[in-house]
Amino acid sequence: MNTSLEDNYRHKGLRQQLVDLLRTKGITDEAVLSAINEVPRHIFLDSSFVELAYQDKAFPIGSGQTISQPHTVAFQTQLLQVQKGMKVLEIGTGSGYQACVLAAMGAKVFSIERQRNLFFKTKEILEQLSFRVKTFLGDGYEGLTTYQPFDRIIITAGAPSIPEKLIEQLKPGGIMIIPMDNAEGDGQTMLRVTKMEDGSLKKEEFGDFKFVPMLKEIGND
Ligand code: SAH
Repeated sequence: MNTSLEDNYRHKGLRQQLVDLLRTKGITDEAVLSAINEVPRHIFLDSSFVELAYQDKAFPIGSGQTISQPHTVAFQTQLLQVQKGMKVLEIGTGSGYQACVLAAMGAKVFSIERQRNLFFKTKEILEQLSFRVKTFLGDGYEGLTTYQPFDRIIITAGAPSIPEKLIEQLKPGGIMIIPMDNAEGDGQTMLRVTKMEDGSLKKEEFGDFKFVPMLKEIGND
């Protein structure tokens, strides 16, 4: 991770350009764009990548994982329809960037990471920033029984199916965004799952993406 927390005018300028680019790529939710404008993405990357932090690209963050591409973060966040004060559960803390974007929108963020080294590395960075994110080392398939129910759930790894326990922990009327493995086995389809008041699920598809896999149980792999 970048050890300097400096956020200078150059970083802010680059961030504004990124926001303009995301607009041209179809992100229209002003609350999402303003959160992207607020969160210093370069702080979540290894220092050698600082110059590249504001390109619309995914990057390695160690432990074989990646920080999602800004467009993917913005796209998932826009689909999530977050409002101030909502309780949001994220599966796959990774660098912590997506969690901070949600916190910048006024959400109360709970985020689970299964990869031990990454969990500790990211926890340290988040403690130095002002975004309110609670992180947990655990298996996202299990959710967080003590903090449920959630208004929103966002999964940031490719999932083979809709995790049943997470549906149980979603409020009626709540929304889950999940990149679901496609039948071809070469990527994911972005799915928005709405839990209707009668408990049934409404599913909508929003195009193809590529994520690292959602794995089971805590590990160091
Ligand atoms: N949201 C992240 C991107 C994460 S990449 C960011 O903004 O940087 C996906 C992350 O999901 C990886 O860190 C991976 O270790 C984690 N992951 C995979 N399976 C998981 C599981 N079952 N529970 C929790 N985290 C998981």
